[in-house]
Amino acid sequence: MSTLEFEDDPLDELFGDSAGTNLPSRVAKAPPASYSPPNYTESCRKCGGTGRYGNWGSCFACHGKGTRSFKTAPQARAANRADAVARKERDADGAWYVFRCGNPEVAAWIESSAPYSTFAASMLEAVRKWGSLTERQLAACESAVAKLAAGKAARAEQAKAAPAIDTSKIEAAFAAARASRDGAGRVMLRTEGAVFSAAKADSANPGAIYVKTGMRGEYLGKIVEGRFIALRSCTPEQAAAVQAASVDPLASAKAYGLKTRSCSCCGRELTDPDSIAAGIGPTCASNYGW
Ligand SMILES: [Zn+2]
Ligand SMILES: [Zn+2]
Repeated sequence: MSTLEFEDDPLDELFGDSAGTNLPSRVAKAPPASYSPPNYTESCRKCGGTGRYGNWGSCFACHGKGTRSFKTAPQARAANRADAVARKERDADGAWYVFRCGNPEVAAWIESSAPYSTFAASMLEAVRKWGSLTERQLAACESAVAKLAAGKAARAEQAKAAPAIDTSKIEAAFAAARASRDGAGRVMLRTEGAVFSAAKADSANPGAIYVKTGMRGEYLGKIVEGRFIALRSCTPEQAAAVQAASVDPLASAKAYGLKTRSCSCCGRELTDPDSIAAGIGPTCASNYGW
């Protein structure tokens, strides 16, 4: 009897129970003599083919050989790695979805804060990796949510308490100056008791106008979308100065120019007799739409 005739028969049928329990139940088919298993040998990526790791040890990935052999083609292994990454990504998305359903407020805070808060970003990573947060992490997130809500409420309260000042004229003048300068130079208005300066175009409030008591004075608040949002520290007298300049910015600019002999808008000295008489330079007047 040749081996080919019984190669697929169970061993216990051939040898009875004495065959033992540790033997495989079937004898593997022997490959043809001409067959040689695929062997893909590559330079080791971990050590760059040197076989060394750092300055001392031998590379753990290739055991110091500098090459590694695989039974699967590099393309197939790359595809498997990509599959594994995609699977991990899907699992992380799923973990985040489940967490968000259970903790909508914290999740919303994490999502909106992650781009600029490393803490929020690390919480996002933690949920995506582990599926949940520790009690302490969750408590820290909840306190951040509460702080944010309190800040929002305080700002709303502050806006409600803001003095009612008609800011339309000063906002129009600043809009005209911003457009005419095309972003070059700071749009400003110096007046008696209040200095207005435009927020930078790339700031958080690109349309805002900041108000101080003087060029190096104290900050009083800002004008945003038709409202003067004053600091609590802004006194009624200071608010009145803001009010006066806002209601008639041209008259305030001229008054400043007549008094100081310098332009309210650009701060330059007024030298032309007409400008001195007008209290403002012609270029600035036109830039600010006056
Ligand atoms: Zn290596
Ligand atoms: Zn000027």
